[in-house]
Amino acid sequence: MKKDILGLNIDDVTMEEALQIALSFTESDSAKTVYTPNAEIAMAALRDSEFLEILNRGDLVIPDGAGVVLASKIINNPLKQKVAGFDLASAMLKNPEFYDKTFFFFGAKPGVAEKAVEKTKAVNPHLKVAGVQHGYFKEEETQEIIDRINLLKPDVLFVGLGAPRQEKWIHAHKDRLKVKLIMGVGGTIDGLAGEVKRAPAFFIDHHLEWLYRLIKQPKRFKRMLNIPSFLWEAVKYRGKTR
Ligand code: UDP
Repeated sequence: MKKDILGLNIDDVTMEEALQIALSFTESDSAKTVYTPNAEIAMAALRDSEFLEILNRGDLVIPDGAGVVLASKIINNPLKQKVAGFDLASAMLKNPEFYDKTFFFFGAKPGVAEKAVEKTKAVNPHLKVAGVQHGYFKEEETQEIIDRINLLKPDVLFVGLGAPRQEKWIHAHKDRLKVKLIMGVGGTIDGLAGEVKRAPAFFIDHHLEWLYRLIKQPKRFKRMLNIPSFLWEAVKYRGKTR
């Protein structure tokens, strides 16, 4: 099911398949990991072997951006579709098959996760949230955070500390966490709280979500240069294999 996209192993799944896999993870004995690289993150992984290794050990790795899908087509190893991490997390929070699962939101600025829970509960009153924790903690507070999560034993732990920090955190601590599914969610908690608006449909439909994000958050410009870099890597790879 995984496809090798320039050294990064990505699951070739539809949104519905990803949701069913996530559901099966919530029945597992050990913590399963879900990562959601977009082209920006994928390029960062090509430059950071530790990060690449962590992503490649993920149990479910979905193509979060149009750039990853485009790169897969350029190298003639096409992925079916983009599966945005935000959409997968949102689907889990609303799908009736997850009504009996408990969630823990870890990440974003103080107060934001609470807001995200409140807004999501307004849409799905069945939602069970075991707890929240903001993402601006000191290194020495890590154990305390893990102890609290383990006391609450949520089925699903969302970690939104930004990439690659969240993936490195998940990898370092997953064996000590009493949860079934851990997902790196980037800015999803901000999105659910309404702190960061998602792109209007026009941008998403035209594969221009990156452009909307650039207009809204110009300070991301430097990291976003990773997107054309990743596509360029794909073009170079195709040139070599021809
Ligand atoms: N964040 C955090 N702790 C930090 C740095 C960032 O909790 O020390 C949060 C930040 O508030 C935001 C998320 O991590 O909610 C990063 O979102 P972004 O969209 O940048 O995610 P990425 O694209 O890096 O995965």
